[in-house]
Amino acid sequence: MYACGVLSELNTVLDKLSAAEPTALADGQSIESLHRCLARLEAVATRSTAAFDASREWESDGARSAAAWLAATCHLPQAGARRCVRLGRVLRHLPLVEEAWLSGDIGAAQVSALAGARTPSAEEAMSRDEEMLVGFARRFRFSAFARALTYWRHYADPDGTEKEAGDQREGRRLHMSQGFDGTWLGDFVLDPITGAIVHKALSRIEDELFEADWAEARSRLGDSAGVGDLARTPAQRRADALAEMARRAGTAPADGRRPEALFTVLVGYETLAGRICELADGTVVSPGSLVEWLDEAWVERVVFNGASRVIDVGVATRLFTGATRRAVEVRDRQCFHETCELPAERCQIDHVQPWAAGGPTVAANGRPACAFHNRNRHRRRR
Ligand SMILES: [Zn+2]
Repeated sequence: MYACGVLSELNTVLDKLSAAEPTALADGQSIESLHRCLARLEAVATRSTAAFDASREWESDGARSAAAWLAATCHLPQAGARRCVRLGRVLRHLPLVEEAWLSGDIGAAQVSALAGARTPSAEEAMSRDEEMLVGFARRFRFSAFARALTYWRHYADPDGTEKEAGDQREGRRLHMSQGFDGTWLGDFVLDPITGAIVHKALSRIEDELFEADWAEARSRLGDSAGVGDLARTPAQRRADALAEMARRAGTAPADGRRPEALFTVLVGYETLAGRICELADGTVVSPGSLVEWLDEAWVERVVFNGASRVIDVGVATRLFTGATRRAVEVRDRQCFHETCELPAERCQIDHVQPWAAGGPTVAANGRPACAFHNRNRHRRRR
């Protein structure tokens, strides 16, 4: 028996859903709807948990806190139970967030991010801007929303943001040690900029190795080759890429001129798009964290004409290179495909109207396409 009759109705509905064939709900619309229902239910559960927390009813069971009661009774991990109670408490101060969650427009991930951004020094600004932020959460895919929220935090709590960036930088570490059997083990934590530098170099080599593996699989199996036929797993390829990075480091003189930028940071065009200060992969960084890199920075200026048009250079070439390539990279930032967020720096620049059909090699006819989506234009691979 449930204290509230609605719960028993819900369980009847859930029984029906559980009894349905999975294939009966396997279309896109049903999947979207199920995920909305999941979000709504989680919102209700979190809100009720907060009320339960406030009522102190958990005390009668001798529990130390509502989270401890929740962890024991619902078999939740401690951290999950604490997160639920904390989220419920913050929700009381964020009525519009609560409303959007209850309607299924946003999910727990967005709510957690919003609750996390409501630091003591940002409380007032959050109350003022709640409607705008919930609008972002509703409209944008998660990564774009998280980016917008980070920019908002930079405005609302500049000191806190810089302090956090300083802590991230201070917290960098790397351990590498040899085990008893001679193998090497390691782990590391890197601040956003250092991480982007390492990740960029490693991913580039990984991509090369992937292309080599792919070519090898194709030569062995022809057109039927799939990702499962590649000689190395992604983890093995990454390990080999690290060794290759070491080999290349050994070949280049330490004081040699850097062949290309270690990392790219986009700044400026405030007047067009608001403040921009982020790495090429979209990670927002605080202005202060760039200071120590400035003495070796190269400045590259990309001038946009209107909302997203770039003055073009050179049309007689088939491949997007140099400034034209850069213009497309900076404008579009990631693979053109709506389900893909691979940074443009790791993409090929593809002709929207194919070169063979007379499409010019100008920024307006270019778009970043990852290897997968570039190939996929012609055939499906998996
Ligand atoms: Zn893609």
